[in-house]
Amino acid sequence: MKRTVKDLVGLKGKVVLVRVDFNVPVDDNGRILDYTRVNEAKPTIKYLSEQGAKVVLLSHLGRPEGFDIRKSLWPIALYLMKSFPNKVYFSNHVIGPEAEGRVKAMNDGDILLLENVRFYEEEEKCDMSFARKIAKLGDIFVNDAFGVSHRKHASIYALARLLPNAIGLLMEKEITHLTQCLESPNRPFVAIIGGAKVKDKIKMLKKLLDVADTVLLGGAMAYTFLVASGTAVASSLTSVESIMTAKEVLDYAKSKNKKLLLPVDHVAVRMSDKKEKKEIVDFMIDDMVGYDIGPKTVKLYSEEIAMAGQILWNGPLGKYEDERFKEGTFKIAKAIAESKAFSIVGGGDSVSAVKNSGLAGKINFLSTGGGATLKFIEEGSLNCVEVIQEKIK
Ligand code: ADP
Ligand code: MG
Repeated sequence: MKRTVKDLVGLKGKVVLVRVDFNVPVDDNGRILDYTRVNEAKPTIKYLSEQGAKVVLLSHLGRPEGFDIRKSLWPIALYLMKSFPNKVYFSNHVIGPEAEGRVKAMNDGDILLLENVRFYEEEEKCDMSFARKIAKLGDIFVNDAFGVSHRKHASIYALARLLPNAIGLLMEKEITHLTQCLESPNRPFVAIIGGAKVKDKIKMLKKLLDVADTVLLGGAMAYTFLVASGTAVASSLTSVESIMTAKEVLDYAKSKNKKLLLPVDHVAVRMSDKKEKKEIVDFMIDDMVGYDIGPKTVKLYSEEIAMAGQILWNGPLGKYEDERFKEGTFKIAKAIAESKAFSIVGGGDSVSAVKNSGLAGKINFLSTGGGATLKFIEEGSLNCVEVIQEKIK
């Protein structure tokens, strides 16, 4: 087990650099749409501040190329001020005299948010000399950014190699739940995988089949598998480059005697139909495009979910942002909410769908990870967590 912030002693007066994941969704004007990720990081910040540490926060936001005011973290500093009155400060720079001066001016328990680390091109290159300049600001490094811990970047990987380190409380929670799910799941373990990022997600399906009893597929992922199993999907979204892998996964499931279920009906529209009237069909023909699982599939999947002891869900089952195609995803969310299983939902869109359905409170754990969760399943760990010191027994 990795060392956590709770294992750190003598924090009073120490400058603790905490890598958080404040990569919140923002609109074109830079307005923040959802503060979940900031709220999830608060327990670690609060704990360190209460211990008398000087808490210096690092994060990225979006994929800026150089400075971009719409990707500034300043609005997040304003937001944090509400939770930590008179304690929060902001630096326009991550390194250099301004940052150094602001750290020097901190009192014990203060919180300083540094500007978006991705304003520096050295960040994604994992540039060691950039990391050394950041490391100079602090005494200890804490990684509480689960969602980006599969990326070897300077502020999350290199920093851990330069300073005494630990994981944060959010990271601990994420790892504990995922590890439990993969190592000692309640049986039967049902995984539901959908969404559009087929190429990224398909890689971990074999690993998932090693531990899960049943895997239910939806979204563009399912169409790629239908093609691989010889069923036509007309003009539905598929990942052509993933079809061979899908075939391998189908064979693998068979050889391991695992249930890998594909949709048996679909909600589709015809491209030639100007009104885009939706149709429920068992097979897609001509110029049909499938956008959701149909009612028979919902029933079939819901029955599996009702019997489950453990559920892991990543990726919506259809184009849920569109009123006409949200039913599959929402009904599966409802089935999960009603089941007695321990349920974990991960992935930006999946979590957002669960929240929109109003059922978030009935899910046992909403993960802040998408890509990181998948990488964890695929490899059993994450680069930026591996580099953190083990707990001393
Ligand atoms: P997550 O963010 O939960 O990991 P993804 O990003 O992989 O999920 O996928 C979410 C996207 O997949 C959504 O924008 C949704 O509209 C899209 N999607 C799901 N099913 C389909 C489909 N059948 N056709 C087109 N897009 C789909
Ligand atoms: Mg997504």
